[in-house]
Amino acid sequence: MGRKFFVGGNWKCNGTTEEVKKIVSLLNAADVPSPDVVEVVVSPPYVFLPVVKSSLRPEFHVAAQNCWVKKGGAYTGEISAEMLVNLDIPWVILGHSERRAILAESNEFVGDKVAYALAQGLKVIACIGETLEQREAGSTVDVVAAQTKAIAEKISDWSNVVLAYEPVWAIGTGKVASPAQAQEVSWFSFIYSINSWSKLTYVFHISNQKNDIMMIFGAATLKWLQTNVSPQVAASTRIIYGGSVNGGNCKELAAKPDVDGFLVGGASLKPEFIDIIKSAE
Ligand code: PGA
Repeated sequence: MGRKFFVGGNWKCNGTTEEVKKIVSLLNAADVPSPDVVEVVVSPPYVFLPVVKSSLRPEFHVAAQNCWVKKGGAYTGEISAEMLVNLDIPWVILGHSERRAILAESNEFVGDKVAYALAQGLKVIACIGETLEQREAGSTVDVVAAQTKAIAEKISDWSNVVLAYEPVWAIGTGKVASPAQAQEVSWFSFIYSINSWSKLTYVFHISNQKNDIMMIFGAATLKWLQTNVSPQVAASTRIIYGGSVNGGNCKELAAKPDVDGFLVGGASLKPEFIDIIKSAE
């Protein structure tokens, strides 16, 4: 099964009613590739979800930026997966690095939230990614593996999951992971999410610095995955990139065969988001 290009716009904690109306008008008027080519999902703050959903062109979808880990109840300030379903909001972003870092969401907690949201019928954009310290310490692979494994342990059906690899050092900083770096982790995280194979992990550690080798190894790995895990899952799970994606760098990133789309923060509030959607072509 093919992996349709995915472009998510994470508006984070931004916007007034007026600004939201402007972004929606911009999106509604844009000439973009058809929904057969690109899936577009924008994620406003909770309070704007209903208005964005009702005013946005129907082929674009809406995501919440988070939801609670279990059935709603006495959890002041939270919103539940059931509420999103009730409002007909199809997607939710879970495990964003800002929530992991600022609100101390652990890998296990994120894994539980992903499983619960999926069980309620939501589709999930699950975020993973290493900090600068972790990358410099050479532990990118271990960090991303642990984050992905915590999700993989809780779910078996990946059909409603998009994995967003977002290196924390690239978020909002203007520093974008090179296309090769984004591709490198997409291969790795995918493998690890399905199973843990110490031998493969070891090879990844060795070749982590050498992007060219990773490319070749990635292709070999896909074949291995197809043969040994599940051809369906290997072929259909989308791994998208996030971190300072903008109108200027999206084309080069999108051209990489293993970058299946983007999760866009700052630029999703600007007209260049349209160029990012168009990079799907
Ligand atoms: P950015 O944010 O595009 O502003 O770097 C991406 C994200 O946090 O999802």
